[in-house]
Amino acid sequence: EDLIIAIDGFSSTGKSSMSKIIAKNLNYTHIDSGAMYRAVTLYAFQHQYIVDKKIDVDGLVEHINDIKIEFVQDPTSQKNITYLNGENVEQEIRTMKISKMVSPISEIPAVRDYCVALQQKMGENGRIVMDGRDIGTTVFPDADIKIFVTASPEIRAKRRFLEYQQQGKDISMDEVLKNVKERDYIDSHREYSPLRKADDAIEVDNSELNLEETVNKVMEIILS
Ligand code: C5P
Repeated sequence: EDLIIAIDGFSSTGKSSMSKIIAKNLNYTHIDSGAMYRAVTLYAFQHQYIVDKKIDVDGLVEHINDIKIEFVQDPTSQKNITYLNGENVEQEIRTMKISKMVSPISEIPAVRDYCVALQQKMGENGRIVMDGRDIGTTVFPDADIKIFVTASPEIRAKRRFLEYQQQGKDISMDEVLKNVKERDYIDSHREYSPLRKADDAIEVDNSELNLEETVNKVMEIILS
């Protein structure tokens, strides 16, 4: 079967990590839709469409079709590497600078239309696990399997904080928690395709589960 599996939820629920493993288990392709919004945000910084936290929406929208996003699988690590106009930006799109501006950039309808079209194209043949915010509602409303992942903001922030620490980044727990909460709010309150659970999605709260336990639970749902 060539399934489309949609995994949506709030930021830092471990959606990407679990989607990567699930895709590997099934021999499917994993697509991290958040990486696209992050790459658009980086592009906006590079071309001065973001200056002092102010967004030049018209400027960005006018040049939206100049943005070329690709995912290339690294042969050794098997990880997807995000390319923005031919440049490897995988590290740069994960910084706090990008995390702080990605939700307001994602609110722009033309940005969403652009990313959604790309996501639909990448997933058109099935055999994909795509994680994001509106995959089960807007991108693939007819997805075969829809999962909605939740966990408390404090637990999510702590996981992200530990990740930053491992990478040697000096960011406080307060700052991470604030960013998680801000993105939750903007993502679920925007007018155009907000983050919400699809009616037919199955909710998985992983506050008390580690990555392996979460994967097992989702695999059970997929195979049932
Ligand atoms: O998944 P990740 O946390 O990397 O996504 C970064 C941001 O991109 C989210 O906070 C959200 O604002 C936006 N996003 C979105 N729709 C998606 C995926 C991500 O709006 N499908």
